[in-house]
Amino acid sequence: MAQGVMVIAEQRDGEIRKVSYEVVSEGKRLADKMGWKVTAVLLGQGIKEKAAKLGHYGADKVIVVDDTKFAAYTTDAYVAKITDIVKAEDPAFLIMGASVQGKDLGARLSARLGVGMAQDCTALEVDNGNLTAIRPIYAGKAYAKVGFSDKRPHMATTRPNVMAMNEPDSSRSPEIVDADLSMDESALKTRVAEVLRDATGKVDLTEADKIISGGRGMKGPEHFNILEDLAAAIGASVGASRSAVDAGWRPHADQVGQTGKVVSPNLYIACGISGAIQHLAGMSTSKVIVAINKDQDAPIFQRADYGVVDDLFKVVPALTEEVKKISH
Ligand SMILES: Cc1cc2nc3c(=O)[nH]c(=O)nc-3n(C[C@H](O)[C@H](O)[C@H](O)COP(=O)(O)OP(=O)(O)OC[C@H]3O[C@@H](n4cnc5c(N)ncnc54)[C@H](O)[C@@H]3O)c2cc1C
Repeated sequence: MAQGVMVIAEQRDGEIRKVSYEVVSEGKRLADKMGWKVTAVLLGQGIKEKAAKLGHYGADKVIVVDDTKFAAYTTDAYVAKITDIVKAEDPAFLIMGASVQGKDLGARLSARLGVGMAQDCTALEVDNGNLTAIRPIYAGKAYAKVGFSDKRPHMATTRPNVMAMNEPDSSRSPEIVDADLSMDESALKTRVAEVLRDATGKVDLTEADKIISGGRGMKGPEHFNILEDLAAAIGASVGASRSAVDAGWRPHADQVGQTGKVVSPNLYIACGISGAIQHLAGMSTSKVIVAINKDQDAPIFQRADYGVVDDLFKVVPALTEEVKKISH
């Protein structure tokens, strides 16, 4: 009978991504309720020495798939290998992060395994051995509680930055197992030829702890420097609304919202952003939302924890000055 929680860890350039520790922690919380074990699967190249760290967050066992074929993510290689592992291990639950990679991988895996999946969940629970998941629907206007049919594993992806991370315990050492690397390579249709990096080396918005976003109220690309200054002072990343991106003021990678990135930082400061439903869809699970807008009726204030009704060109530089005073 299927039992245990399996989580798929994610790495980039050989470094395990934060979302992996979140899913391991969540997996551990669910497994404890059932007296189950947590098995993490880590794919990459030269990553075996990193596997132990997944144990610090709650993995009892880590299956390491270490080979050049898995150095960079490709859907077909990852899906083929993880499908074999899932069939051999027969977990009750299969969880991964709802990152760009996790959303793609999860969708293909669920089709390959012939099971249902809840994407981009903000809460998971175990009920009598069955997984239940809470996920935003209608662009974040409502939350749905979903359950699964009897078929195992019950699959879910979790929104990055939402699940609480366990305190790492370096005295926990997981069993580390090398996966069988054999596979039918004729089924691999894609190969990563080259990875082109963002030269700025910015933190990916989905992993940022603090985000300051600018919208049409910024009035032009030349004014984003005031957001960059505040971001530098508080250690934040800069995002944007679609209007700012469509106007060519910011790159698409900075767009937050339904057709951009979905983010859940600890602090989200929206500057000159009205708060359209499609923007809220991307940031409404942020822990603390601050809005700076000169229109007191802007819908963003309905979601904001703190609001400043004023001209952002006055407020943002003043805020930066105050932060600098405190931090010196
Ligand atoms: C299918 C679809 C998908 C979409 N996806 C996204 C998405 O992913 N992300 C997204 O953001 N949008 C998305 N949109 C667009 C969305 O509907 C809004 O048009 C957009 O979010 C508005 O951007 P904004 O708030 O920057 O601009 P506006 O709505 O024009 O708001 C600008 C705000 O700035 C304020 N302001 C102006 N000057 C100042 C000042 N000096 N000081 C303080 N405040 C000032 C104004 O009061 C106003 O509230 C999508 C739309 C559709 C139809």
